[in-house]
Amino acid sequence: MSGPVRTRFAPSPTGYLHVGGARTALFNWLFARQHGGAFILRVEDTDEARNTEEARQAIFNGMRWLGLDWDEGHETGGACGPYFQSERSEIYERWFEKLRTADRVYQDEGAWRFRFERRPVTVHDLVCGEVTIDYRDESNTPDMVVRRSDGSFVFHFVNVVDDIEMEMSHVIRGEDHLMNTPKHLQLFEALDQKPPAYAHIPLIMNADGSKMSKRDQGAAVHEYQERGFLPAAVNNFIALLGWSPKDDDEIFSTPELVERFSLEAVNRSPSRFDWDKCQWLNQQHLMALPPGEFAAAAKPHVERSGFVMTGDYEAMVASVQEKVQTLSEVAGMIDFYLELPPPDEETMGKVRKNSDAAALLGDLAARMQEVTDWSLAREAIAATAEAHGVKPGRLMFPLRVALSRRTAGPALNDMLAILGKEESIRRIELLTGDLS
Ligand code: GLU
Repeated sequence: MSGPVRTRFAPSPTGYLHVGGARTALFNWLFARQHGGAFILRVEDTDEARNTEEARQAIFNGMRWLGLDWDEGHETGGACGPYFQSERSEIYERWFEKLRTADRVYQDEGAWRFRFERRPVTVHDLVCGEVTIDYRDESNTPDMVVRRSDGSFVFHFVNVVDDIEMEMSHVIRGEDHLMNTPKHLQLFEALDQKPPAYAHIPLIMNADGSKMSKRDQGAAVHEYQERGFLPAAVNNFIALLGWSPKDDDEIFSTPELVERFSLEAVNRSPSRFDWDKCQWLNQQHLMALPPGEFAAAAKPHVERSGFVMTGDYEAMVASVQEKVQTLSEVAGMIDFYLELPPPDEETMGKVRKNSDAAALLGDLAARMQEVTDWSLAREAIAATAEAHGVKPGRLMFPLRVALSRRTAGPALNDMLAILGKEESIRRIELLTGDLS
């Protein structure tokens, strides 16, 4: 490779950061970080009607949340700015002049067309291999408009000018741009500039093979943020949309992705979007967090639900760390600690199936009263089971319902420890009363 690595993400702001855009950004960022190069954020906001300030912010927020920091661009600045196409008109005029001087453009009904060279042009794509467009047949490949009659420049032209000016070494972008690339190569040549290396990454499909749309679950990056995914898990997930590591590993931290990513291992075929897998990966990342970090990550989600923070918050949250797939589930799983939910008929029906539940719980509460070291509360369960000639397992379910009024949740030991002796016994007696 000659010269420094410089990659860019060049979004056209549409109001939110799409998972496909985030993946393009991630691949460019990983590649730059791996090679000690620079990652540039260039906003392709020439379509002014659609490009609101809000739409731009949505992109910056999404990138920041994912941790995809840029070395040049909005707020960071850099030697090749401005980094908004809407502010680069003078630069485009200058390069357009070169095409004019070289007689490579001509006017046609007010617009300016670029004169293609009439020969085959081949892209040597790092992912897709060789792709050729034959320009010899003019009827199939008419000269392209580079400047509209209103004076504005088209995407192909400004995209190429910016990649020249910003000294891109690699352009990694969606496969939807693959067929544009021979046109871009023609422009590079006409402007007497060396083109960057290109890598076009596969489309993202829904699980059923249809094209992913805006409204599909998981399409917008802010959705992951709101639902309580970890940025590292989302990076992991979107990296696997198109990139396959050589071995069977699937769980990667972001620094591991930086180390292992390679364009050679980007798949040629479309990738399938799998929401279940995304949730599973998030769970793996959540489970791997130190409990304090898990509690901190969950906090904004828990607070938003109206949960009143107490001194036991960390212990409560730790008790569900391995039970949730997303942080937005945490509040609903720990609220019972603060306030016992009302009994629901389905759950009560399940407890009643066990005809001796009330007797067992009543006896258990009595034995628990005698426990002096509450960390040994489980011994009261074993003793109760033995006295009634049943397996301890028979007590577990009614006890769980007594403590939480739920059929699933944290480990019994955790619930007993967090609720403490008095409250645990009160809840057990309450259910005993409800049952009899
Ligand atoms: N603004 C273009 C897009 O969002 C960028 C294409 C490119 O990366 O070259 O599709």
